[in-house]
Amino acid sequence: MRVRILGKSPAWQDVDGACSGYLVEEDGYTLLLECGNGVFGKLRAHMDYVDLDACVISHCHADHTLDLVPYSYALSFAPRQQPVPVPPWPGTDTPARPRLHLPPGGEKVMRTVMTAWGMPALVEQAFASAEYDPEATLHLGPFEVRFRAVPHFVPAYAVEIVSTVTGGRFVYGSDCAPNEDLVEFASGADLFFVEATLPRPERAGPRGHLTAAEAGEAVRRAGVARAVLTHISDEEDPVVALERATETAGGIPVEIAVADALYEL
Ligand SMILES: [Zn+2]
Ligand SMILES: [Zn+2]
Repeated sequence: MRVRILGKSPAWQDVDGACSGYLVEEDGYTLLLECGNGVFGKLRAHMDYVDLDACVISHCHADHTLDLVPYSYALSFAPRQQPVPVPPWPGTDTPARPRLHLPPGGEKVMRTVMTAWGMPALVEQAFASAEYDPEATLHLGPFEVRFRAVPHFVPAYAVEIVSTVTGGRFVYGSDCAPNEDLVEFASGADLFFVEATLPRPERAGPRGHLTAAEAGEAVRRAGVARAVLTHISDEEDPVVALERATETAGGIPVEIAVADALYEL
């Protein structure tokens, strides 16, 4: 299994960066985990967007879903997706329609956003769209995909992707406050992407994100093989964030997410 970081920014993009987007590949099957703002262009740098097999979304915040909009426009209006020839494209009766797996309630969210923009069904018609059952396992090509609810400002799900080819196990924590469920869910993973959004804990209201030290703590307690801090701004000092996470990670190797980085497991 190969996991490539297309975008790792938090809710505002890094310079020349993208928000959440991770491309997971095995045996020619491609799965896009998250499609935040900026991700569609980054995806196009690595593959032809009509060849994507599936997209999985952990929660319906803009920085995890916004590029479903340009992606849907491409699938709907690109010359090669049309039923008649549009030179140099020959026309097709079977336009690409990747599978889109949204969290419960996600179709309504996308429809609400797109209604405000005048095309309510754009996303659900462009993709083969469905909402997943977080209690069930999704079987997507060579991958088994499982979910675990984590505390955030909207319903959000950590995602586990297991390769049925190699047995490699990748866990992505989505956006979340400190919580026990994530530690249990990620336990023993080969690769763990954990958010480290905050330079310090939220000072008021409910918690919804982790600091680097809290991310390191989750890494240590989950006993994973390798961890990557993600959802982190280029405005934070990566050396300081890494130091804070390393102090609490109990000797488990931790890295900071970098756009284009590729992990094999
Ligand atoms: Zn979020
Ligand atoms: Zn986010």
